[in-house]
Amino acid sequence: SKAQQKGRSLFFNESINKQVKRDFLIESELREALSKNEFSVLYQPQISVDSGKIVAVEALIRWYNKILGHVSPDEFIQVAEDIGMIHDIGSFVIEQALQDILHYNVKHNATLELSLNISPKQLIETNFAEQMIAAIEQFSFKANLVTLEITENIFISDLDKVQPILKRLRDHGFRLSLDDFGTGYSSLSYLSNLPMNEIKIDRSFINKLLVSSQSEALVKTIIAIGQFYNLTVVAEGVESKAQFERLKHYNCDLIQGYYFDRPLSIIDLHAKYSTHDVS
Ligand code: C2E
Ligand code: CA
Ligand code: CA
Ligand code: CA
Repeated sequence: SKAQQKGRSLFFNESINKQVKRDFLIESELREALSKNEFSVLYQPQISVDSGKIVAVEALIRWYNKILGHVSPDEFIQVAEDIGMIHDIGSFVIEQALQDILHYNVKHNATLELSLNISPKQLIETNFAEQMIAAIEQFSFKANLVTLEITENIFISDLDKVQPILKRLRDHGFRLSLDDFGTGYSSLSYLSNLPMNEIKIDRSFINKLLVSSQSEALVKTIIAIGQFYNLTVVAEGVESKAQFERLKHYNCDLIQGYYFDRPLSIIDLHAKYSTHDVS
């Protein structure tokens, strides 16, 4: 009916209006978030399938704002790229994480590795390689303990720009990981053209691992490809023992996911992994 239609379009307008307001707020609040100290960094353990021990953590940014509450990085990283704030936010994560994990390693006499998500814009539009090298020198951190996770869909347009930057980083000793592997267009050609050390199987495939034989075949194939290229294979989003067992069966190297741990504050990381073993 007309009345129903009117109700629906009113609702529609209202929800659009809400989203526009939220986007506007995210953008304006994001501009001040760094100076207001609203960001923090969490660390999600990566566990070796062979030893059962924690070998690395992935740094994941968090934003809490008084008006907006918790805002997911999936929502604000894109905005940060658009308004040119990704460089400053990226530097914040790099410095905080290097400092936290250096401290962890000194305190526990450990060699925990650190994975950092690097946004395409961050990688291409700044003097990223030099910045990264300066950062580890400042903290006396070893390059071979740092893995840079890069999403594979960035390369399509910028392969020529990306290649020398990655080569410079790799030559300096950093490890390179192809994130969200399998979700992009040319996964395989990247592996032969880029100096990668690692691939991360996207969560969407792990999700369906036990319910879709197609996904299982894909995961099995990705792991085999990784082994063929001599790469470390990481599975993300592992939530159950059954998924873990299946990945172990296919010889996946590292496992990350809620089955072991959610992303942890540095304090919780110290507490839970003070013996450097999985408890
Ligand atoms: P990603 O790199 O694919 O990170 C994995 C995401 O999966 C994280 O979401 C993590 O918290 C979540 N996750 C891990 N294990 C599980 C699990 O077992 N189940 C489920 N349901 N989820 C799991 P998060 O922290 O919300 O980050 C979302 C995305 O935001 C990341 O996806 C990454 O692309 C981006 N991001 C996060 N931190 C940073 C950062 O510091 N810099 C940049 N440039 N991007 C970041
Ligand atoms: Ca990642
Ligand atoms: Ca992913
Ligand atoms: Ca991602």
